[in-house]
Amino acid sequence: MERVLITGAAGFLGSHLCDKFINEGFQVIGMDNFITGDKKNISHLLSNPHFQFIEHDVTEFVKIDGPLDYILHFASPASPIDYLKIPIQTLKVGSLGTHNLLGLAKAKNARILIASTSEVYGDPLVHPQNEEYYGNVNTIGPRGVYDEAKRFQESITMAYHRFHGVETRIVRIFNTYGPRMRLNDGRVIPAFMGQALRGEDLTVFGDGSQTRSFCYVSDEVDGIYKLLFSNYSYPVNIGNPHEITIKDFAEEIINLTGTNQKVIYKDLPKDDPMQRQPDISLAKKLLNWEPKINRQEGMLKTYNYFKELTEEELYKSEHKDFSKHIKK
Ligand code: NAD
Ligand code: UDP
Repeated sequence: MERVLITGAAGFLGSHLCDKFINEGFQVIGMDNFITGDKKNISHLLSNPHFQFIEHDVTEFVKIDGPLDYILHFASPASPIDYLKIPIQTLKVGSLGTHNLLGLAKAKNARILIASTSEVYGDPLVHPQNEEYYGNVNTIGPRGVYDEAKRFQESITMAYHRFHGVETRIVRIFNTYGPRMRLNDGRVIPAFMGQALRGEDLTVFGDGSQTRSFCYVSDEVDGIYKLLFSNYSYPVNIGNPHEITIKDFAEEIINLTGTNQKVIYKDLPKDDPMQRQPDISLAKKLLNWEPKINRQEGMLKTYNYFKELTEEELYKSEHKDFSKHIKK
């Protein structure tokens, strides 16, 4: 059996990738330090003989015994509120963590795919965003810790490819959603779902005219899987191009959940991108991939997941406590 290491395995995307690779017949090693992830996301895998879990912070040297065929580097905070609260950890996992995993890929002669993001385009001046666009990022703004870590991650990955001949893949992920997102991670879908379920008003930031394009998790995972097994080493956008304003999206959630609550407006966070839509022409051509699940279907599946959470989980709405992970 081929062996794959997945970092960020206890997170939202990482845990779905573990499921996908196990279903495809791989031996999976999951690695995570639980800073933003949750053991619950992988609890169903712990007794599976094809799954092994290692609790480890990937910013420290990563040691894996035996052969390794593939690495998927997904460890990193991904929610703006998370990375504003743990800025140094975010910079370190994108830079030092990526360096460690590229070193491991080189030592094991493994192919590595790294999780980049639409945030490399910053607050984009080109619409929709294609892979040729260099982006518009404020290096010293609050989101810079994430955006620049991811931009560095792409650069060091290409350097390992060009200089050491490591087999690399770079996926630029656009807003992805689905079951196992953390209800209190601050991202817009869990935020609105939690508010609707608790009977609170939905908080739209700014005037809600900013746009996003949401991709259901199974589509994202299929695109990532196809990219790994392609022979293309440059970045590829994987996302759903169906764009919506945040204000209209809040109304959609009110209709879906049947809540009697209303939309209320709060300040727009600094450097919040005003529009985001992936141009997926490259993924279509290269991977013969495009998303299959529309927002109505995907949101219903996601709502059904959040509805099953316990009262305790639903009301543990304050943001995660990171203190035990922060070295003074
Ligand atoms: P998540 O927060 O649910 O998962 C991230 C996981 O990485 C968590 O389990 C966390 O504990 C782990 N982690 C963080 N730092 C670590 C470290 N130093 N060592 C070991 N583990 C560590 O977020 P997600 O949405 O699943 O995102 C996963 C990846 O995909 C991230 O790299 C993110 O930047 C990228 N991404 C996600 C989206 C999205 O919409 N979900 C969009 C663009 C990019
Ligand atoms: N947002 C919002 N209300 C919330 C949370 C987020 O209006 O309670 C907005 C946020 O300002 C952004 C969009 O929703 O414009 C998507 O935010 P998210 O944190 O999900 O991710 P981003 O795409 O900004 O990384």
